[in-house]
Amino acid sequence: MQATARMASVVSSTLPARRRLIRSVRPTTQRPAVSDHWVAVIPRDPEYVPSSSQAKAALAYLRELATESDEVTFTTDDRILFRDCGENLESISCPICSAALDQDWWSDRMAEDHDGLGFYLRPIRLPCCGGDASLNQLLYSFDQGFSRFILQAMNPNIGRLDDQQVARLSDLLGAPLRVIYQHI
Ligand SMILES: [Zn+2]
Repeated sequence: MQATARMASVVSSTLPARRRLIRSVRPTTQRPAVSDHWVAVIPRDPEYVPSSSQAKAALAYLRELATESDEVTFTTDDRILFRDCGENLESISCPICSAALDQDWWSDRMAEDHDGLGFYLRPIRLPCCGGDASLNQLLYSFDQGFSRFILQAMNPNIGRLDDQQVARLSDLLGAPLRVIYQHI
């Protein structure tokens, strides 16, 4: 139980930190060769935090949708954290000119925007077209994003949420959402 609780908080951290943590916390006796996946929803506005009753209602609904999950949880952080898609990340591109962005360039910008606890999402000059965009405005495939609040189901085995389910979660949380499918 303690290990799964820690795993949930691990998802909120940056990618390199998360990988280190997962190696250190994953019990060797628990499904060592099987990968895990999460379905997570975050507000499109990184600063948005729903009320406690909104979060609990959305949690109850996601539990109904994903009854086979290992666990369904929500967390709120004081700072804006990176919500990554793990091994599902295939490409990053410019929201202005659609050019592909180099992942090493992106990693350097991630490090610059992070102070050890959270992200600022400051405007960044893009190398492709010279436009400005924050890390949260770049186009990620699979999608990933930044937020203080996250609601997630671990190993739900439900595939993708459909539009109606996302709309319902959005209504319950009171904000437009981003859906993140994380695979590690
Ligand atoms: Zn561009």
